[in-house]
Amino acid sequence: MGLITPFDPWRGKLCTCPPKYSFSPYAGCGHRCVYCYITSYVPKAFQPRVKEFTPLQIEKELKKLDRSKPISIANSSDPYTPGEAQSLLMREVLPVFIRNGFKLLIVTKSDLVARDLDILSKGRVCVSVTVTTLNGRIAKSLEPFAPPPVSRLRAIEALSSAGIPTMIRLDPLIPGVNDDSNSIRSVLKAASAAGVRQVTTSTYKAKPDNFKRVLTAFPKLEEELKSMYSHGERVGRSTYMPKRLREELVLKVKEVAEELSISFASCREGFQDLNTAETCDGSHML
Ligand code: SF4
Repeated sequence: MGLITPFDPWRGKLCTCPPKYSFSPYAGCGHRCVYCYITSYVPKAFQPRVKEFTPLQIEKELKKLDRSKPISIANSSDPYTPGEAQSLLMREVLPVFIRNGFKLLIVTKSDLVARDLDILSKGRVCVSVTVTTLNGRIAKSLEPFAPPPVSRLRAIEALSSAGIPTMIRLDPLIPGVNDDSNSIRSVLKAASAAGVRQVTTSTYKAKPDNFKRVLTAFPKLEEELKSMYSHGERVGRSTYMPKRLREELVLKVKEVAEELSISFASCREGFQDLNTAETCDGSHML
């Protein structure tokens, strides 16, 4: 298999992403989010390793690919995992994609992305930063080794101010943790002030290992979450909460997004009719 592959989330029937490629410089991620789903298929997922490749190999693969499709970096394993501060891998690979004329969708939970503003501003790039809450204590429980939300917002502001299209992922929404209207409003207001053009949201999709971690991090919610997800539906390899509840949560985000004039999409929910954004992943902003 090549380093750059067609994006295909296990042919997920609810995925609405337009055609694109996927590239991950790392296998595994050091942010160790409790809700992370890569632990179900990446061995030692919380011990990130640099994948073995050279810029020349990337260059060779790019020659065979279709430039009209963007490359998403990364859909699995954050490209700005903490170790990237030392390894500088992204600074090595980004120029290769850009000089070969490929459009890039950068997906991260780290403010480190702003370090590469000088390179990113030379290409056709959209940066998506996940912000699940502004509450530092909740963020620490949810995403223990990711930079604090306020730092991520500062990174968004720096990128937006430089003219790079940005969006946030308010993802996942976990009942009892970050789904109340005040929390959603505060995240979207701060993101809007930082210059995002879009929010894409998604409800928490449980898998056995991430469900255990979520319950350990939020023990008071155990009964409620167990009951809610036991009445949920199975979609692919995940368990979703009941559709009515998912729709309620997604609509809360849409309502605030509309008030703030940010475009809105949901991810793998089956509610694409509610979307106001042209694409869920920001491809249209490239
Ligand atoms: S940043 Fe993404 S890949 Fe990394 S641990 Fe969190 S959810 Fe998993």
